[in-house]
Amino acid sequence: NSFKDAGLHPIMLRNVELSGYRTPTPIQRYCIPAIRMGHDLLAIAQTGSGKTAAYLVPIINHLMGKAKKLAAPRPHPGDADAGARVRAEPLLVIVAPARELAIQIFSEACKFCYRTMLRPCVVYGGGPLRDQIANLQRGCDVLVASPGRLIDLMERGDVLSLRRVKYMVIDEADEMLQADWEDEFNKILGGGEQEEGNVKYMLFSATFPTAVRQLAKTHLAETYVRIK
Ligand code: AMP
Repeated sequence: NSFKDAGLHPIMLRNVELSGYRTPTPIQRYCIPAIRMGHDLLAIAQTGSGKTAAYLVPIINHLMGKAKKLAAPRPHPGDADAGARVRAEPLLVIVAPARELAIQIFSEACKFCYRTMLRPCVVYGGGPLRDQIANLQRGCDVLVASPGRLIDLMERGDVLSLRRVKYMVIDEADEMLQADWEDEFNKILGGGEQEEGNVKYMLFSATFPTAVRQLAKTHLAETYVRIK
């Protein structure tokens, strides 16, 4: 019933405190332990429920302890190739249907990545492509993306790879299906590049239509549903 009881790393606990969050919201009380236990998740949650922190806190908490092992090797600051541009290989990808939402999630991600080794980035359609690519190539462990821009960047080959992804979050899944992103979605979720069975999937949706149910059935290993 408190963030302290959730067994979070001291750095994460501090970041939660710095965000001004004193007690977890109901969706956070439910999701933080479920994600920490390694479950895939389908959560029905409205905007305003605290759903963003409900997935960011436990996922970033897990990845920060594993970053050395899981993340792409980084050149030492003194190396000749330090600062070289590399292909981004994020460990966490969050897909969000709209640019405003992506930016909002990114700002939460920045708070929770503070003083961890994890580097957050955001990319979305209509944003400056060259700058987004340059940001990615400086290194990215946590990527917030709109679906169209994500696929565009994946298809370039030398900018972004999902081969190291450990967590894939689809936020506002119902909005995305309504906007006819289904094919893109399956492309992203299917990824193909990721190692089988190694990726945890989380779907967050405000409503629970058949299309969301179907998506969950296709991609989620175990489904935990909470309907408010
Ligand atoms: P969300 O549903 O993720 O869009 O969050 C809605 C708002 O609630 C955001 O402004 C968050 O910063 C805030 N928030 C999230 N979790 C908490 C919490 N445990 N305590 C207080 N505010 C929170």
